[in-house]
Amino acid sequence: MKKYELPPVPYSYDALEPHIDARTMEIHHTKHHQTYTDKLNAALEKCPPEIQEKDVLEILSNIGQVPADQKGAINFNGGGFDNHRIFWNNMKPNGGGEPGGSIADAINTSFGSFSEFKEKFSSTTALIQGSGWGWLVYNPSSKKVEYKSMPNQTSPRTEGLVPVLGCDVWEHAYYLKYQNKRPDYISAWWNVVNWDDAASRFDKAKQ
Ligand code: MN
Repeated sequence: MKKYELPPVPYSYDALEPHIDARTMEIHHTKHHQTYTDKLNAALEKCPPEIQEKDVLEILSNIGQVPADQKGAINFNGGGFDNHRIFWNNMKPNGGGEPGGSIADAINTSFGSFSEFKEKFSSTTALIQGSGWGWLVYNPSSKKVEYKSMPNQTSPRTEGLVPVLGCDVWEHAYYLKYQNKRPDYISAWWNVVNWDDAASRFDKAKQ
């Protein structure tokens, strides 16, 4: 059986300072992401071989095929494994600004303008009740980008949507620095968005 390992963060834990603090990054990666990875492996061990041999992305995209006794664990921990793997790459030091090229065109088509997209993403993500993620996703059915809130660690892939850009609004993502001020964290997060990574996910999803 394939065993997943903790995916790397492609920069140092203090690289996103002052927007995201080093201690939060370290705990988020070495404790939270590690736990999702370990628990994904543990859940897969209890699955039949025909599930075990599939890649986690394929499993998440066909979550209904997972046996009922492991479905919740795979949905949560497989989602947590993949969401955070995307999240680290969705950010970079000296990021932010606005995208260009085809993703910018897609955002304008779906939201009217970049500023309208940013406002909708920020305000809706800030209002997610409890733990979850705000996502810019590509919908292969409509061939458009959309905003999607997802609860807990449920991956957009479970709804046939391709993650492009995600913002983790679990308290573990911001509480040490921002405490209850989730909107302040989201405002700061825009400064570290890696639009090159989001654009490459979008371009790949369209193919
Ligand atoms: Mn997280």
